Amino acid sequence: MSPVRQSLVIVGAGPRGTGILERIAANSLDSEGEFALDVHLVDPYPPGGGRIWRQEQSPLLWMNSQAQDVTMFTDETVEVAGPVVPGPVLHEWAGIDGRTFADRRRQGGYLRWVYERAVARLPEGVAVHHHARRALRVGGPRHGRQQVWLEGRARPLLADVVVLAQGHLDAELDDEQQALSAYAVRHGLVHLPPDFTADTDLSALAPGQDVLVRGFGLAFVDLMVLLTEGRGGRYEEDARGEVVYLPSGREPVLHVGSRRGVPYHSKLGYDWDAEAGERPPLPRFLGPAQIDELLARDGGFGPDDFRRDVWPLIDKELGYAHYHRLFTAHPERTNLSWAVFEEKYAAAQPLGAELRDLVASAVPDPADRLDLAALDRPLDGVRHASYEELQEGLRGYITADLERRHDPAHSPDLAVFLGLLSVYGQLTRLGDVGPWWHGFFSYLASGPPGPRLRQLRALSRAGVVKFVGADMRVEAADGVFRATSASVPGARVEARALVEARLPQPTLARTRDVLLRELHEEGARATAAGLLAVDSADGRILYRDGSTHPRRFALGPHTDARGAGAFTRPRTNSPSFRQNDATARAILALLRDLSCRATAA
Ligand SMILES: Cc1cc2nc3c(=O)[nH]c(=O)nc-3n(C[C@H](O)[C@H](O)[C@H](O)COP(=O)(O)OP(=O)(O)OC[C@H]3O[C@@H](n4cnc5c(N)ncnc54)[C@H](O)[C@@H]3O)c2cc1C
Repeated sequence: MSPVRQSLVIVGAGPRGTGILERIAANSLDSEGEFALDVHLVDPYPPGGGRIWRQEQSPLLWMNSQAQDVTMFTDETVEVAGPVVPGPVLHEWAGIDGRTFADRRRQGGYLRWVYERAVARLPEGVAVHHHARRALRVGGPRHGRQQVWLEGRARPLLADVVVLAQGHLDAELDDEQQALSAYAVRHGLVHLPPDFTADTDLSALAPGQDVLVRGFGLAFVDLMVLLTEGRGGRYEEDARGEVVYLPSGREPVLHVGSRRGVPYHSKLGYDWDAEAGERPPLPRFLGPAQIDELLARDGGFGPDDFRRDVWPLIDKELGYAHYHRLFTAHPERTNLSWAVFEEKYAAAQPLGAELRDLVASAVPDPADRLDLAALDRPLDGVRHASYEELQEGLRGYITADLERRHDPAHSPDLAVFLGLLSVYGQLTRLGDVGPWWHGFFSYLASGPPGPRLRQLRALSRAGVVKFVGADMRVEAADGVFRATSASVPGARVEARALVEARLPQPTLARTRDVLLRELHEEGARATAAGLLAVDSADGRILYRDGSTHPRRFALGPHTDARGAGAFTRPRTNSPSFRQNDATARAILALLRDLSCRATAA
């Protein structure tokens, strides 16, 4: 008797949807019996890249990772129950230098290829259908077939299992953004709220117009690129090798500031020098045992105050990575042997006076000490008499950052980077730790490639970018937008345009995605930060009544199973791959079970 035909609907065909399909293909090879399965991929954008990595976008936008750090394939470091199926890392696939920051279109090509390879590897009997539409609603009885309604289709897709891999979502404006937008309409100003910059219509920003930009992270870099090179400007090197910007005359003038007032730290410009010492043996102070202990707190509810319960462990872990490298690679800059320092460091309380004194006595140069609070707030206490002075000051800051981040004499910075990756991986087990940590991580570990900061400095010299400073405040008054900052007391900048250079931060209640909003209204649980709560074991969606939905799964940035939050680096036992594998296996087990029951009935 031929098996009953089954149906799996995956909403979202970006990197996560593609990764799950790859794991379904890999794990199907292990499965016994015939397959009779339709996989419906629902996404208005092409499968593989999806919205963020679609191939139709400006070639000027780069990835923020080196090509050698981006893989969609498992290797022997990945602890999965399913088979390891190796494949090329981005630079191998593209035939480019591993240190290249590939443009996003190229990454879209890689993802498309991964998608097609996964489809080709699915067993006979599995058919994949792409529906280039938005999914609007999931319904159906808890223990029966699910229904997924698509835009423009009168009847739903039927599904034995549904996976929501919807990733980065648009958000409704919050009260502040609504008020700013309404003010802009009343006064004929331009206000661009948080958005995916590649999708924003920037035509309202006129040549030569003063524009306030709030946010100095990666969304700013995209904005800067699209409004400069994207409008016909060019870069050249002068006789001294300095990057110089040649404007097209069509650029607005960007006045950029933020809470920190500085751009994210440059990507490191060198690799690990194995000859000069081993990698820090991590995890050490924030590993599985400490996470178990944190999770067990408060009768199993886990830590409830990130800064109090988790941050001290992070500080100690990153300090350990830093000093391990300093003492082993640059012992001449220390006063103690590593063995003695390590023992005392291990015994000291995190963030305590004993630890501070130990570091002060063992590491003479303050530039060799790790001070995360100072790194987080580099302009604290820095005051300038005028905006002109601030421009000079910040160009100097960027130059110093570029020099340090490209100088292996500061290789403890690279050890801290490895420490940040380790901590990030460990923290995934805690689920939603709130936005602060992600921001801090991105600022230190996931900043722009060096060439982008050189461009920023050139744009500053050309007067196309102007720095506003730290603790930037924007007020809407007297028919304009007005910015002030702590860095230049008493001074202000006025403009008729304001851009919020950051990604939307949708919560389940405030996302524009009607499917997720309704799911939430019908009882799906949200974490404290508003993410969709899922079972960490296999990605099944959790409900407020304490149940997990037997047939609905979700993974990715809109859930508390975010994985690494970025593409996987090779040989890192990536949590995203482990999640994808666990979910794919749970789906296949469920389908097998349902099929057996249908055959027996
Ligand atoms: C602008 C940007 C740049 C980034 N750059 C890097 C980088 O350089 N390096 C790095 O490691 N990481 C980077 N990241 C992080 C990481 O790569 C992304 O988080 C990755 O795209 C996540 O993949 P995803 O499939 O979970 O989500 P997404 O890429 O957002 O894909 C989700 C898909 O779901 C679809 N979808 C959503 N709702 C529906 C619906 N209701 N119906 C149908 N389809 C729906 C969307 O159209 C989209 O295609 C970046 C993230 C962003 C936002």
